[in-house]
Amino acid sequence: MGARKKKPVILAFGGYDPTGGAGVLMDARAIDASGGYAVAVPSCLALQSTASFDRVVPLSRDTIDRALACAVRAHRIAAVKVGMIGTRAAAEALLGFLDSRPSLAVILDPVIRATSGGSLLANNALRAYRLLIERADVLTPNLPEIEKMLNRPVARFEEAVMAARDLAAVTGAAVVLKGGHFTWKGRKGTDIVFEDGTVTLLAPSRKIPARDAHGSGCAFASALAARLASGDRLVGAAAAAKDLVAGWIAGGFRSAEGRWTLSD
Ligand code: PLP
Repeated sequence: MGARKKKPVILAFGGYDPTGGAGVLMDARAIDASGGYAVAVPSCLALQSTASFDRVVPLSRDTIDRALACAVRAHRIAAVKVGMIGTRAAAEALLGFLDSRPSLAVILDPVIRATSGGSLLANNALRAYRLLIERADVLTPNLPEIEKMLNRPVARFEEAVMAARDLAAVTGAAVVLKGGHFTWKGRKGTDIVFEDGTVTLLAPSRKIPARDAHGSGCAFASALAARLASGDRLVGAAAAAKDLVAGWIAGGFRSAEGRWTLSD
């Protein structure tokens, strides 16, 4: 009998979206599909329907601390994927957790606003959130998010490459700028990977239908974390994550009642 390869355990820390379309439920699906084993600690409850965002229900610092303690007691964590933080208590709980684990890999998807308009980060959490961003090894913003993080508009593809480089310089993290919001000719869906002074462009391998892809950012960063923890280099891991998510968006992700959850 051959030895079975152990799956890396990825801790998904993010909002709990009861629809499963985004948040830690989506994270877990993408981690499992990318060769990892998912464990999850919710930062808050992100109550929403598939059409609109209702409200953020906070969890106390003590609850989050205890949930993190349960996760590490049960498993040796290989990497942490950070999604929606929501509240200051959640940001500070995660910072405390990471402070005592300086070598743990952190992949952070900057989640600031829902596509449906709701704010996914409280104003009083911004200070702690900046520290989380500086702690991250890899950041996976989309175009609106990188514009917000750098506080400047990005109007051309060349400016997007510079933005990825600048975000890497100010945070010390590698940056995967997702191209899903790019509308420039020939650049739609082209991701920009900036690592150790090198830019790599990842063109989409297939045309993706223009569907609402709510939750695709969660899935991408989670798949990326699982691939990195399995030993892939960043560019290869990003390409694999892109492929997985593109397939899910193109094919849809039907639940039992025939509802699209990733697509529309
Ligand atoms: N995480 C949670 C819990 C959310 O509710 C949302 C959006 O509503 C997101 C993340 C952002 O999702 P994505 O950027 O993957 O579309």
